[in-house]
Amino acid sequence: MTLQIPFDNTYAALPGLFYSKLLATKSANPQLISFNHSLADILRISVGDKAKLAQVFSGNELSEGAEPLAQLYSGHQFGQYNPQLGDGRALLLGETVGKDGIRRDIQLKGSGRTPYSRGGDGRAWLGPILREYIISEAMSALNIPTTRALAAVLTGEQVLRETVYPGAVLTRVAKSHIRVGTFQVFSARRDWKSLHQLLDYAIQRHYPKADGALGFLLAVIREQADLIPKWMGIGFIHGVMNTDNCQIAGETIDYGPCAFMDHYDPLKVFSSIDRFGRYAFNNQPNIIIWNMAQLATALVPLMPNADDAVERFSEAIHSMSTLIKKNWLRVFSAKIGISNPKAEDELLINKLLTQMDESKADFTNTFAALGSNAIRNEFMEPEKFDIWEKEWHDRISDERHVDETLRGANPIIIPRNHRIEEMVRAALIGDFSVFERLSKAYSAPFIENSDYYDLRETPNEKEVVTATFCGT
Ligand code: AMP
Ligand code: MG
Repeated sequence: MTLQIPFDNTYAALPGLFYSKLLATKSANPQLISFNHSLADILRISVGDKAKLAQVFSGNELSEGAEPLAQLYSGHQFGQYNPQLGDGRALLLGETVGKDGIRRDIQLKGSGRTPYSRGGDGRAWLGPILREYIISEAMSALNIPTTRALAAVLTGEQVLRETVYPGAVLTRVAKSHIRVGTFQVFSARRDWKSLHQLLDYAIQRHYPKADGALGFLLAVIREQADLIPKWMGIGFIHGVMNTDNCQIAGETIDYGPCAFMDHYDPLKVFSSIDRFGRYAFNNQPNIIIWNMAQLATALVPLMPNADDAVERFSEAIHSMSTLIKKNWLRVFSAKIGISNPKAEDELLINKLLTQMDESKADFTNTFAALGSNAIRNEFMEPEKFDIWEKEWHDRISDERHVDETLRGANPIIIPRNHRIEEMVRAALIGDFSVFERLSKAYSAPFIENSDYYDLRETPNEKEVVTATFCGT
């Protein structure tokens, strides 16, 4: 069988202003690390041999029907507007419509310089590529809306960072790569025509039922208000929720300095560049509202009756906090076995979280142990926990399917930072077995599997990861 990707491109048909068409920079000696066959199947890709996959997914060879382009966007980075960003190290190959009827982008990341590279080399090193591969696929298995990983390829070239590393290319698959920043760039340029074209395109592609700019904003708000509580439910900290990393279709995108919490700490920050905790665990709901306010600001000029529009767009933004709270309550109620939450359950959940915070209880293991005796070990004052547990038992006595709800909401394993780092260290000396093992383990995070008991363990003092870095 030869490699065939049934490309059906629409972004490439938008005006030239939206992107730069160019080819990937050639790689010296591409070697396939991993290929996601089940995802390829959804995308209706027929898979060729390994050598061919390495050529195509490094960008060395152009698959028939591909129309590679780097997308233009801008965005607020840590609150500061940067008027021109764009794909500085990524290239959209094109789109396919999958077996599930969903149109998706196929994009190379690390494929060389583009007109938007600014000072960067357009390349990526092996660490961030494997990290994104593992974490994005784990997120998918954890039922979190996310971009996915189709392939990882070594380029056979070296990339210079703080030291020299092997270069690699990730193939990322997303419902699209349209971001808040894609709207911002045209709005900031007062290019209303392009802004309108982008809006029409995004509505047609993602929210065909949405009525105009306001309807579109409300649809994006709905998806983002769904996504962020889901992150919180698995202890995920994105780390760099800039508006250029905030995707319109509501998928988690850009796995840079992201990380999962070990012990529960609502103020937790991992990213080395997030010095003021802007993107801390508990601040993620505030930030997504801020990001949606930037989207509203970018879109508001498209409304014919400007005065009324500002009011209605503001209302939409103000409604978001209630929506997030409601979704947060649904997510966290399920984590304690409640499928029909009541408003007062928030207090019960928060009492548990407070005790977890005080005890530095492991976020994943504590929830996974709810209902078993093992849970007491997570708490400094088990007797205090007993009181909570009693209250909890009273609350769930009239709930049905508690066990199923608990099992469906509480993963047993998540990609812990020390495991990811261990995997990268092994890969750097040519051992990809750890990568393969983690890949397999995290594909079924809700199922007890004695082969992976070690992956439940919290890091010891030497293993604790205190800071993460963006993937540049
Ligand atoms: P990110 O931190 O991945 O969201 O990237 C922010 C911006 O920096 C985007 O415009 C990227 O394309 C660009 N960028 C990141 N790394 C590189 C690189 N190695 N070369 C060129 N541009 C880059
Ligand atoms: Mg980005």
